[in-house]
Amino acid sequence: MSAAFLQHFLHHAGRRIPVVLGLVVVVAALEAAGVMLLMPLLELLGLGQIKAAGNLNAVWRQVFAGVGLPASLEVVLSCFVTLLIAQAALRRVTDYLNARIEADYTVQLRDRLYRAMVHARWLDFTRLRGAHLTQVLTQDVDRLGFAAQQMTALVGLVAMAMVHCGMAALLSLPLTALALGCGLILAACLRPLNRRVQTAAQASQVHRSEMSSAISEHLAGFKVAKSHGRGEHHLQIFTRVTHAIADQFMAAHRTFSTSRTFFELSGWVALTAFLYVAVAWVKLPTAQLVLMVFVFTRLLPRIGAIQTSWQRLLQSQVSFETVQKLQAELDAAVEAEPTVAGQPFKLQVGLQFRQVTFRYGGEDASVRNAVTGLDLSIPARQMTALVGPSGAGKSTVGDLLLGLLSPTEGTVLVDGEVLAGAQLNAWRQSIGYVPQEPFLFHDTVRGNLLWAKPDATEAELQAVLQAAAAEEFVTRLPQGLDTVVGDRGVRLSGGERQRLTLARALLRRPTLLLLDEATNALDPVNEQLIQQAIERLHGELTLVIIAHRLSTVQNADQVIVLDCGRMVESGSPAKLVAQTGGHFRRLMQADRGITGDEIL
Ligand code: ATP
Repeated sequence: MSAAFLQHFLHHAGRRIPVVLGLVVVVAALEAAGVMLLMPLLELLGLGQIKAAGNLNAVWRQVFAGVGLPASLEVVLSCFVTLLIAQAALRRVTDYLNARIEADYTVQLRDRLYRAMVHARWLDFTRLRGAHLTQVLTQDVDRLGFAAQQMTALVGLVAMAMVHCGMAALLSLPLTALALGCGLILAACLRPLNRRVQTAAQASQVHRSEMSSAISEHLAGFKVAKSHGRGEHHLQIFTRVTHAIADQFMAAHRTFSTSRTFFELSGWVALTAFLYVAVAWVKLPTAQLVLMVFVFTRLLPRIGAIQTSWQRLLQSQVSFETVQKLQAELDAAVEAEPTVAGQPFKLQVGLQFRQVTFRYGGEDASVRNAVTGLDLSIPARQMTALVGPSGAGKSTVGDLLLGLLSPTEGTVLVDGEVLAGAQLNAWRQSIGYVPQEPFLFHDTVRGNLLWAKPDATEAELQAVLQAAAAEEFVTRLPQGLDTVVGDRGVRLSGGERQRLTLARALLRRPTLLLLDEATNALDPVNEQLIQQAIERLHGELTLVIIAHRLSTVQNADQVIVLDCGRMVESGSPAKLVAQTGGHFRRLMQADRGITGDEIL
């Protein structure tokens, strides 16, 4: 286990650690007192007087005399039981505190990771694998929580072991030195096994990560896999990973059980040898021998538990490194300035791109620009359509408008102000976005709408449903607004999902509404419904439509044609369609299946 892990834990574990350590010391002291009480007990049982260093015999006599109690069998046994009860009660408190430390530690780790994830730059975030994020946030953090508990438990075990070693040393120093020597040899023998535990933990981490990916990616594409008859293929991948995990588990189990068996056997061999040396060579008196055996039989399982805890901590080191790596990646990707809440914008003039270039590779000039040197204006309260062939850069321009991406070169201006830093959050509060793939939560229609504006009134909900042409189908749902839409809205049709997403986007009264291919996958009836809904919004707010189907852009005030990341044309649809040999005209012809130069 690394010092960094220990430091991290101590830094985050809070004020409870000193309390736990204090309790551990008290429990250890009670254990020491319990062992000491065995001296008068053995004497009272007629096994003779015990000779111990530090005049221990005198100590317990003085204690009894001091409190005015006779050192009778009844009193000694009662004291013994009282000590055991006190120890058990304190252990319960320590266990509770340990559990609290574990819970708080995991909460902190998860919150920090999630916070960093929420504030990460969009582009950096998209480079992370979803399954990996899920695995780190769940399994790895859980492992660290368990490790935190093991750490505090380890401190307790070590304290107890020290008490027993101390007592043993007072009873017979040479025998204790012999036992400790055997213990050190044992620990040295176990070192290779500890290394094997760490290697196994690393391999297991890789397999668990593969399993998370197999599950989440298969679930995301379940319908496609099923309809392509590729379910078996996914099953094979999954089975291979689960078998690898099972093999790994068995290998880890073998290492654990080898070390435990080795430890137990060598422990008992050492104890037998110790007994022989004590009786045959040191000639230890019976009472002293009984006490020494008692002390060592209490010590042995604790040393075993220390070894197990240590191996568990070594196993969790991999999770610590994984969590730290992800945290560092996310921290490095945090948006330039904290995304403080600001007053939502009301777009007055419009948006402008000034010489905007964007490259997904960032500074890496070998990566092709997604958009290059764009100079364009999007006037407020007008409808602007972005068109162009696939890969032309339409979605990239959309993401730049949303403030999800920042230009590699050039600037995006909102009413003349550069869109960057602290303004980003306020800007995003002012936008409505309808993506290509409508996303709904496994919640009611109402819950999905309120996600955008938790304090929306019933009248506002009805108004946006009406504006998005969704009122009628929602009324027809079995429980109306309170109908659960299913996982990602699976219980609704594509068109219904799209209209509900539009209604949700409108609920915040956005100053800019961006529709990314919103009608692309819809049938003519649904397409018309959405188009009519959009048309009703025309003039009320700033509309930007990313469109493949050119029928959806006919009512736009301006069309911007992109090709290979550059603006190749702009103007009203009527003007562009009239330009013989123009890009928009050609796109229009292709859209309508016209091969000659004729149009309309
Ligand atoms: P489509 O109509 O097919 O959706 P588009 O016009 O919206 O295409 P963009 O998605 O903006 O085009 O892509 C523009 C270019 O940027 C393409 O060459 C694409 O491969 C690249 N690109 C898009 N997203 C990423 C990404 N996350 N990482 C790297 N390159 C990307």
